[in-house]
Amino acid sequence: MIMEVIDSVREMQKRCDELHCAGRRIGLVPTMGYLHEGHLSLVRLIRGKVGEDGVVIVSIFVNPTQFGPGEDFEVYPRDFERDRRLCLREGVDLIFHPSAAEMYVPGATVYVSEDRLSRGLCGRSRPGHFRGVLTVVAKLFNIIRPDVAVFGRKDAQQLRLIERMVTDLNYPIEIVAAPIVRESDGLAMSSRNTYLSEHQRRQALCLNRALQAAEEAFAGGERDPVRLKATMASITADVPEVEVEYIEIVDWETLERLSSPIERKALAAMAARVGGTRLIDNTLLDPTAK
Ligand code: AMP
Repeated sequence: MIMEVIDSVREMQKRCDELHCAGRRIGLVPTMGYLHEGHLSLVRLIRGKVGEDGVVIVSIFVNPTQFGPGEDFEVYPRDFERDRRLCLREGVDLIFHPSAAEMYVPGATVYVSEDRLSRGLCGRSRPGHFRGVLTVVAKLFNIIRPDVAVFGRKDAQQLRLIERMVTDLNYPIEIVAAPIVRESDGLAMSSRNTYLSEHQRRQALCLNRALQAAEEAFAGGERDPVRLKATMASITADVPEVEVEYIEIVDWETLERLSSPIERKALAAMAARVGGTRLIDNTLLDPTAK
């Protein structure tokens, strides 16, 4: 199959109809483009899910509705030609690359929002962000009707929200969670890392170091979320240029802040600004893991 690129919603719906009728399994990797190894790991994971006879679709769309006023929508890195080449090399079958005008009809008033999981963590400082994410993902699901879609654990809150949406709105779609892909020095890969200077990039490593310290303490038997957070905060405090937005330990299911000892799967998550760049990272703390 030659890789197709489709930018119209109508054409995409028609093409997906044909693929469904032909009995092809469809796997979707939603992205905002400027692809890196993290995204490509999702492509490989989904190929494993749909098989060689299946169809791997990557959507590339910098979704304006998930950016707040004053956020980086205008300057978000974009390089479609580079993304196209990377997808071709990975054996992607189809890229869906709509414009904002194509995705959003003027006067739209219906959105998907969520009431609980979206309140804390990134939801607190980015009002409307998850409404934008859920709405665009719902639209992609409705246009493409994939059998399976993959989301990275890097955006853990987003992953949990999408799992919730699929359950609550009865989407017959399997959601696959992909592990976080890191640079060799531990920095979680992100399209936004391109904003960082060399110096800032080195400072940014303290996020991963803080999470690793929490993992080590947890492995050593520490279950108190307050002490684990203090361990993380003591590491970021050594790097004054890193302005922590939050360091949290939350229940994996509810994303509610834990105040009692960790007994179920938990998420240690953090967001910080390095220069003007907002970075997030996280790790799972699972007391039931062997
Ligand atoms: P984005 O283009 O940043 O919206 O990301 C598209 C998808 O790739 C989302 O499901 C992200 O969670 C996932 N992703 C981004 N960075 C990474 C990473 N470093 N490791 C794993 N998945 C990632």
